[in-house]
Amino acid sequence: MESWDLIIIGAGAAGLVAGIYGVRSGLKTLIIEEKIAGGTTAEAPLVQNYLGFQSIVGNELAQKMVDHAKSAGVSINEFEKVTGLDLNGEKKTVKTQKATYEAGAVIIASGSRYRELGVPGEKEFRGRGVSYCGLCDGPLFRNKRVLVVGGGNSALITAFYLAGIAPEVKIAHRRDAFRAEEALVRDLKGKPNTEILLSTEVKEIRGEKAVNKVILLDKKTGETRELAVNGVFVQVGESPNSEVAKDAGVAVDENGNIIVDALQHTNIAGVYAAGDVANHPVKQVGTAVGQGITAAVEAYGFIRRPYYKQ
Ligand code: NAP
Repeated sequence: MESWDLIIIGAGAAGLVAGIYGVRSGLKTLIIEEKIAGGTTAEAPLVQNYLGFQSIVGNELAQKMVDHAKSAGVSINEFEKVTGLDLNGEKKTVKTQKATYEAGAVIIASGSRYRELGVPGEKEFRGRGVSYCGLCDGPLFRNKRVLVVGGGNSALITAFYLAGIAPEVKIAHRRDAFRAEEALVRDLKGKPNTEILLSTEVKEIRGEKAVNKVILLDKKTGETRELAVNGVFVQVGESPNSEVAKDAGVAVDENGNIIVDALQHTNIAGVYAAGDVANHPVKQVGTAVGQGITAAVEAYGFIRRPYYKQ
């Protein structure tokens, strides 16, 4: 069994910065990542609110974070899925589909995944017009009509990005006001090829080989209508990747977010959570970075027990 001081699950912003702090404080630190390192930052068409970067493509920012962690000496195992955890002993055990590791402390920074809309046609047309990632799939809709669904930052940023690619972009939100930042709403309103459909619910996605229409409900009038579109970008929030941790006894809230205190401690000693998987209400790259740093400093204190932590 490979032995490490600190194992971090997830190589997004929280995990990568925790790795840097772990290595710099002298801990033998491994990050295990199910996919490619970079996390959901890499899927953001644009990031305009991370300090020091006025506007940067998400993938570029994510790559800078990965390069920084690697150059600091953090070991990152990509494409390795954590399948089980045993966290209650003094040594924590992390099992993956490739190996079993032990560590003095574990930071769970496994992020979140896209939430589905849950309407007929969504699953059927996934990859045939239904997408969850504007940056990944937007270029496929260069001469097509697209609809973005959702009212948060992700939906607005995706609509703004798609408006630079597709000739016609609509955004449907179920309420009469967006929850996204004012600045994003203002930017979107400045795009002439976009149309905002408030108080509008998508009831169904239809098509033949690929999506060709959606059925919309106008919540104010109660009327339904068809809208011809080729692409539906679902941006209705995220669900935390906390199942493996929960199975190992880590406490989660009613939405599956790992419950942490102000120092990122979970209910199990030596186990911390940071970033989108944790129950912090603000899900931003900046807050993920702050949480990752705190978790790594606490993990260091737990493993090395310096005089100020005794
Ligand atoms: P979000 O802020 O949770 O917003 C989800 C949106 O989807 C809400 O408007 C919600 O409607 C709507 N929604 C949820 N379920 C729905 C359903 N079944 N049918 C129709 N609409 C539905 O999610 P997000 O935009 O993905 O962002 C997730 C987190 O990441 C947030 O904390 C966000 O601030 C953060 N984020 C930040 C940035 C940035 O600052 N650059 C970028 C992206 C994401 P209601 O309003 O009615 O609830």
